[in-house]
Amino acid sequence: MQTYHTPLDLVRERSPERPVAFARPDSVAVAARWFQDNFKGDVFYAVKANPSPWVIETLAKHGVASFDVASVPEIELVAKYAPGSRMAFMHPVKSRAAIRAAYFDHGVKAFALDTHEELQKILDSTDGARDLTLIVRLGVQAEGASYSLSGKFGVDLHEAPSLLLAARRATEGKMGVSFHVGSQCMRPTAYQAAMAQASRAIVRAGVMVDIVDVGGGFPSVYPGMVPPDMADYLDSIDRGFADMMVHEDTELWCEPGRALVAEASSILTKVELRKGDALYLNDGSYGSLFDAAHVKWPFPVKLYRGEGGEAVEVEGNLRPFRFYGPTCDSLDHMPGPFWLPEDIREGDYVEIGMLGAYGIAMNTRFNGFGDAETVAVEDAPMASMYGLARRSIPLRKSEVQNVVKLTRARSKKRRKK
Ligand SMILES: *Cc1c(COP(=O)(O)O)cnc(C)c1O
Repeated sequence: MQTYHTPLDLVRERSPERPVAFARPDSVAVAARWFQDNFKGDVFYAVKANPSPWVIETLAKHGVASFDVASVPEIELVAKYAPGSRMAFMHPVKSRAAIRAAYFDHGVKAFALDTHEELQKILDSTDGARDLTLIVRLGVQAEGASYSLSGKFGVDLHEAPSLLLAARRATEGKMGVSFHVGSQCMRPTAYQAAMAQASRAIVRAGVMVDIVDVGGGFPSVYPGMVPPDMADYLDSIDRGFADMMVHEDTELWCEPGRALVAEASSILTKVELRKGDALYLNDGSYGSLFDAAHVKWPFPVKLYRGEGGEAVEVEGNLRPFRFYGPTCDSLDHMPGPFWLPEDIREGDYVEIGMLGAYGIAMNTRFNGFGDAETVAVEDAPMASMYGLARRSIPLRKSEVQNVVKLTRARSKKRRKK
């Protein structure tokens, strides 16, 4: 991978025609170290958040030795780029062939399940292995997540005791519980609350668990979504764990995806056309901007203008814009608002930040677009949970001035009526 000092340097050297994805391995390294220094247990990276080889390699190099995988291709990816690391197959619904390949070809021992049927599938497909680590995924009630992840998976807490008992009896290895409070969880106390529910299910089952896996959900910073300090989340987990009915050697696991990678990527797009407040870009909802379109997240942006050595970052007077992607689908629309200099025009470059999680990873080839090249850069991310650029979001000074202006204009209008 080629390295540039900053995205602006790339614009100066290349004036790229196609979108370029920026990789910031240093950001991944900082997040990985933070979790290992502060989480009092084992950190599994949830590969689906960003399966790029440079992410897996950087995590492994900075001490992350465990990975949460959901498919055989993810297992092969981890085996290739982080050889020797431990994997847990945390998808609660797996094909028999996938279970078999995971266990026999890759030595995966840990499997998640949320039904008796899946438990039987795991036992059948491993020829009745007795050394499995079986993790029962619980459907907990959690508040504060921007994305719910309990609708599809997780055994109902009333039915959990019989499944916990069955899993306990099915292995001479370890047995545990997991849950997911939902992604981009804005409330630290959601973890403690979920752990209390898990504890009640364990007590009702009358079993001992060896593992409590608190899942993912740890947030990143986006405009309008600035979460509490990450340390507050770990405090909540510490308190929750202390209150659980578990034995002294019970292991604590977590599976962060977003929090380890969100800051680490951004994408450089080109303005192909401007129609009023609508900018037509060469990347969109079928590329790296799925969440900007489908959950309307207003990602942070920067503007670069000019060719060759003349290119500069433009800060100017900001106003809100919306984006359209390059495909012919009218769903390829990102409402924003994205605050950019009011004179933005065709040929300008917009860098869209905080796309390291569920952004770069979602790229499709629909309509002939989506083959962004990746280069490494060394600048700070647009925002950070780890002190790199903490809370430069949501608003820059010029944006604040604009908001003040807009609010004034609006209240004037109201007075006229
Ligand atoms: C998606 C997922 C994660 C990661 O979630 P984040 O919100 O990105 O931290 C962790 N565990 C499981 C089982 C998942 O499906």
